[in-house]
Amino acid sequence: MVGEYLIISIFGVVIGSFLNVLIYRIPKGENIAFPASHCQSCNTPLKWWHNIPIISWIILGGKCHFCKEKISIQYPIIEFLTGVIAILVYYKLGFVWYMPILFLVFAMLLVLIVIDIEYLAVPDSINLLALTLAFIQPNFLDAFQNALMAMGGLALLRYYLSYLLKKEAMGEGDIIVAGTMGALLGFPLFFYALFLSAILAIVPSLIAKDKMVPFVPFLAIATFIVYIWDKWFYRLGEWIIH
Ligand SMILES: [Zn+2]
Repeated sequence: MVGEYLIISIFGVVIGSFLNVLIYRIPKGENIAFPASHCQSCNTPLKWWHNIPIISWIILGGKCHFCKEKISIQYPIIEFLTGVIAILVYYKLGFVWYMPILFLVFAMLLVLIVIDIEYLAVPDSINLLALTLAFIQPNFLDAFQNALMAMGGLALLRYYLSYLLKKEAMGEGDIIVAGTMGALLGFPLFFYALFLSAILAIVPSLIAKDKMVPFVPFLAIATFIVYIWDKWFYRLGEWIIH
């Protein structure tokens, strides 16, 4: 039991290490496979023991071994969070063939969260990959149908809002994320996640005032919460209706 979770969490942090590469290289338009990992300050290629997720950052004291330049704490945090995602998806699904695939969907959403926060835009490559992977489930026809409904619904909302506000409401990236949400959650959970994301966004939006607030992080976090604890949300929904 503990052994399974240990293996799953190691698998998670190793994928997290790759997510760091995606987060750093994709917005810059760099190749994700070449060159091999190197220090971003002095460009020295890293040794294998500089590349162990979380552990290397701690051993190196958060500094490059060669030039002593600081390495962002974002790297071990992403690795840790990816480990947590792996554990929770395994907790939810157990060992089924589509568990690693749905884990990867949430891993891609984590990449989108970080890139949206840093660049206020999400790359279509990762966004579409998450959506496509979210179809790969036993009930893939339902997943596909739910994705289309969610995307259509959000596109409709976007047309109305853009007309009423007389400016572009939401990004196209949000609509693709809605498709992933629909495929993962179905209905009515999709609406619960949408509602939860709006609640999560209230305080940050108030703090940011006129500045743009990335919305994908709230959609993605709400989707993950509703997906993992769906039973709880079904119960909450019933309680509100009756
Ligand atoms: Zn260096």
